[in-house]
Amino acid sequence: MKKILFSIFAILFAVNVRAESLINDTEVEAVLGELVTPLAAAADISPNRMHIYLVDNDSFNAFVIGGEDIYIYTGLLKRVTTPNALRAVIAHELGHTLGGHMAQMSAQIESEMRRAMIIQALGIGLMVLGGNPSLGAGVMAGATGVAKQSMMSFSRDEERIADDLGFNLMVEAGYNPNGFVEIFTQMNEMTSPLESRVNKNSINHPVTAERLKNVREKLLNQNIKNKKFPEDDAKIIEKYNLVRAKLVGYLDDFTRVKTLYPYSNKSDEAIYARAIANMRGGNLSGAVTGTKTLISRQPKNPYFYELLGDIEYQYGHYDNSVAAYEHAINLRKNSPQIETALALVLSERGTDNDRARAIELCRHTILLDPKPLAYWVLARAFGDGDGRADWAMAEFYTLQKQPQKAKEYARRAKTRLPHDEPEYIKSDDILKQE
Ligand SMILES: [Zn+2]
Repeated sequence: MKKILFSIFAILFAVNVRAESLINDTEVEAVLGELVTPLAAAADISPNRMHIYLVDNDSFNAFVIGGEDIYIYTGLLKRVTTPNALRAVIAHELGHTLGGHMAQMSAQIESEMRRAMIIQALGIGLMVLGGNPSLGAGVMAGATGVAKQSMMSFSRDEERIADDLGFNLMVEAGYNPNGFVEIFTQMNEMTSPLESRVNKNSINHPVTAERLKNVREKLLNQNIKNKKFPEDDAKIIEKYNLVRAKLVGYLDDFTRVKTLYPYSNKSDEAIYARAIANMRGGNLSGAVTGTKTLISRQPKNPYFYELLGDIEYQYGHYDNSVAAYEHAINLRKNSPQIETALALVLSERGTDNDRARAIELCRHTILLDPKPLAYWVLARAFGDGDGRADWAMAEFYTLQKQPQKAKEYARRAKTRLPHDEPEYIKSDDILKQE
């Protein structure tokens, strides 16, 4: 009972803070990476330098900062219905990069964005369900820069150039540039009834009809007509649909979930969206039933086990939750968010073995992808009164850009730790930071 009450509180909290944070989610990031990487390669951007950020905001929007940091809004991802249409959006944004249009953004906005980027948000499941409220608030305070992108706008000429360059990128990467027709058609349909949702500085533009006409003309070019573009295979479509369903399940209200994914729809993605919405609404047995159906259909899908771990955690069934997360991690190595979630549950269950495993998981996660949440969970795993926990909180606040608090914890860590401990030395480094 306590868990459920807490989760309701957490959901209310999440609704309040939802306006402009960034979301980390292994599944979403994996699918976006798969869609974006070939386009970035065609634009000569190395995958190591390129980063994709998911902005928790219902606008139909995407943009690129500094040429290599791609921001995609959940509102866009939820509404763009095919992987190839989403590729066209990304290709257009990379077209701005290739066209050198970034120069117009002020240095101040860019530094705001970079700050927001460092201060990463929670994983989606933990954010909505289990996250510590003060943690979320800190993340939010840092992420406001994301909203400032609305100051960024492009001229009509630049939009046209970005479309042209993006179109060529699609062709070069071997994808059907017809994705542009799909996305512009959809945007055209959206502008009337959903105008208020559409950010006027986003990829949408008053001249969508004209842009649609331009890409249609380009498609008539003989070189393009003679080219054979492979159809998207069923696998990427399935993965993409699951990602969209996941976002709807976590971020939209239950009425909307049922409208988009009615009970009559027995597809995997519909069951996924409803299972997540059931978990959020406290219908845990409904959530488990749906998730187990998904697991029986796709026993090798790590994210269904991740969801099962989330649900069992909500029930307070730590043993089942741990088993499900461990299974997910076995199916997909190097999943920072799943490892962090597992570490959180282990630190709550709290046997000596659990703590050691939680510490190991957090350390691994921090090596892969140092996020505030991993340090916060690490501090819990060390336990109150442990100087290393103070050090972990100092790192947490450093990442949250709260240097005063970071130093307070670092100072306390030093009083509690032997001078030759690595955490003592790291705490000392934090105190020396400007
Ligand atoms: Zn544009």
